[in-house]
Amino acid sequence: MLNTQCSIIREQFPILATEVYGRPLAYLDNAATTQKPRCVVEAERDQYYTANANVHRGVHYLSQQATDLLEQARVRVASFINAPSEQEIIFTRGTTEAVNLVASSYGQLLKEGDEVIISEMEHHSNIVPWQLLRDRRGIVLKVIPFCDDGILDLNAYKALFTDRTRMVSITHVSNVLGTVNPVQEMIRVAHSHGVPVLVDAAQSVPHFRVDVQQLDCDFLAFSGHKVYGPTGIGALYGRSALLEQMPPYQGGGEMISTVSFDRTTFEDIPYKFEAGTPNYVGAHALAVALDYIDEIGLDNIADYESRLTRYATERLSAIPDLRIFGNTPGKGAVISFLVGDIHHLDMGTLLDRLGIAVRTGHHCAQLIMTHYGVEGMVRASFSFYNTEAEIDALAEGIIRVAKMLQK
Ligand code: PMP
Repeated sequence: MLNTQCSIIREQFPILATEVYGRPLAYLDNAATTQKPRCVVEAERDQYYTANANVHRGVHYLSQQATDLLEQARVRVASFINAPSEQEIIFTRGTTEAVNLVASSYGQLLKEGDEVIISEMEHHSNIVPWQLLRDRRGIVLKVIPFCDDGILDLNAYKALFTDRTRMVSITHVSNVLGTVNPVQEMIRVAHSHGVPVLVDAAQSVPHFRVDVQQLDCDFLAFSGHKVYGPTGIGALYGRSALLEQMPPYQGGGEMISTVSFDRTTFEDIPYKFEAGTPNYVGAHALAVALDYIDEIGLDNIADYESRLTRYATERLSAIPDLRIFGNTPGKGAVISFLVGDIHHLDMGTLLDRLGIAVRTGHHCAQLIMTHYGVEGMVRASFSFYNTEAEIDALAEGIIRVAKMLQK
């Protein structure tokens, strides 16, 4: 269905009409960030023109308007991921800050020797915050390995639990391998040990329907800029019973109830975790982006993107010496690859000269590179606004570069 609408959809994203070195841009770096539809850019502009004032503190008209937009955005985010209450939605700068918030705040409830389980396929933003906690509090990090095709080893996962396990923090979809992890089942296992689970949904929320009640997760993090919203805004869902127990993440304005030099009391959730002036304009524009996504329909998006990914996999697999990393059934809209011994940077740089935007390097997942014994990979990642013609351009571009560089 989206096929026929693609040109209408692409008109909503003016940047897609860019020419690069005289060639039409094929933007295939959507896992890094997505482009923004007009409605999102206009929502930001309009709020600055008509409804800009600092939130929560003001009695005046504009402040009330800005506050209403921020709180409506919270309700919108809650409904998008089916959170039971908007009080369980904390606005953050993105996934990274959301994970840092949990590691820092929930981390204060942990003791030396307590264990946190992560996986070998995590983005650095779901590794380093836990390592910082390890350095601060002496917790122990345990790692679920994955098999070469990109599937997490669930037996190994089950064997990692002990009576000191206090948290599981895992990615829903790998930003390199495209693996869609069976988080619902993994959460069930963790809960059978009484252990809460944080889901890094940075790469799932933009591509298919994510429902926190269905998953039964305890925390879930995502970034606005990967879901067609602005940069600098994202959200953390947290189960209220846990958020209530957790100490504040940062101190400052907005998050307090009363302040004296002897003793400060804090606001209720979610404000306890939102110190300082929030990115209220970003939050509103994020809500507009979520409306836009819902208008297209996440089921349509999932269907179209999986067809596009299958098509790209077929085209790329037919290229001699091309190796794709991550071959799990139903994988997400991302293909990481290398061709022969061509350096990922050379491939990416020459594809760019052909107007094709892909990402090169370790993709903030150095442990995945270590797993395969490579320094980096080339990654093409897709959105519903991409077309088969762009995949053809990618495949032909790779063949051309390979001919130039291979001996
Ligand atoms: N987790 C995953 C799986 C990601 O792909 C990314 C972004 N590449 C992040 C976390 C971090 O997101 P952000 O930089 O928006 O905080």
